[in-house]
Amino acid sequence: MRIVDIRETAVALNSSLRNAVFDFSEMTTSVVAVITDVIREGRPVIGYAFNSTGRYACGAQMRARFIPRVLKAAPDSLLAPDGRNLDPERVLGCMMQREKPGGHTERSVAIGTIEVAVWDAVAKIEGKPLYRVLADRYNGGVAPERIACYVGGGWYEPGKGIPELLDEIRAKFDEGYDVMKIKVGGATLDEDVRRVEAALDFVGDSGRLAVDANAGFDRARALAYAQAFGRYRLKWFEEPTDPLDYALLAEFSDRYGAPIGTGENLFSTQDVVNLLRFGGLQPERDFIQTDVPQSYGIVQFSRTLAAMRALGWSRERVFPHGGNQMTLHIVAGFGLGGCEAYPGVFGAFAGFADDARVADGWLALPQRPGIGFEGQNALYALMKQMT
Ligand code: MG
Repeated sequence: MRIVDIRETAVALNSSLRNAVFDFSEMTTSVVAVITDVIREGRPVIGYAFNSTGRYACGAQMRARFIPRVLKAAPDSLLAPDGRNLDPERVLGCMMQREKPGGHTERSVAIGTIEVAVWDAVAKIEGKPLYRVLADRYNGGVAPERIACYVGGGWYEPGKGIPELLDEIRAKFDEGYDVMKIKVGGATLDEDVRRVEAALDFVGDSGRLAVDANAGFDRARALAYAQAFGRYRLKWFEEPTDPLDYALLAEFSDRYGAPIGTGENLFSTQDVVNLLRFGGLQPERDFIQTDVPQSYGIVQFSRTLAAMRALGWSRERVFPHGGNQMTLHIVAGFGLGGCEAYPGVFGAFAGFADDARVADGWLALPQRPGIGFEGQNALYALMKQMT
């Protein structure tokens, strides 16, 4: 058994959205195919992944270092000890050869995307949905039948006012979601207060509304929002500050006094540890939102969870970034708090299988082998072109 080829391509997300900090007009993502010589149902098993959303395609690093390292390795050195499947931990180790500690983002997205595609192949070879494989390996075989899923939205768009925002929330709740996250920081504080109060009025319960500032605030603005928004006791306030400004986050947290969510822009276990040590967060109140394919992948994520646990943080406090099928399996397989969704927002890359349905805020788990991109027609058509 061996990996015969790894291919990658950059695809544009074609989105006109804007958050507090930037627009998505140039956004791309890397799609990866890991081709094996294992045959299932008459065809070679191919593992797929993409590098989530919000970070640009990173094919240059893949082509220059990570793909050649894997293809040059002795095939047996990438297998599990019984030789019956690939071992993602060994593939990760192979890609990390001759990589200097630190400087994570230059490579964590490229490595994580390939690593998740390897997991897709591993689960297909086992003939199980990925979350089952992960539950067996990382959660004592325990897997739920459904996971909590909230919907992200409330982006700023030209001509979109409060009535249009409420229409958007109503449509999402009609689809079956019962918690929604909206953007803040792309308007004035006064306007954002009006948006959030209108949204709160509509959803009727502060636990059903979160806000997301996309790390866009300087100190003055962060503290002004902390002052104005703390009283609403929202589900969480996401990324108020630069992700690495732990001192400012601690100051925000102190003034805000209600749940915070952050971590999608941290790419290493050490950065998460630093956040928990110095960011003023509390394990009974706050939420961690790392993006697994962007931060070295699933094996490294298991190490991050272990480091979090050592600091008193449980898995239920983790709501990973990225409303896609990769995240869905990771949430279910590790027993995390819940999953994000943004249906229809990032073209073919948004959302779950075409037949997936949300009811009362719960998402049933897919039963196709692997991650199941095969059930997501537009995305799978794109992926298949590579092979
Ligand atoms: Mg966010």
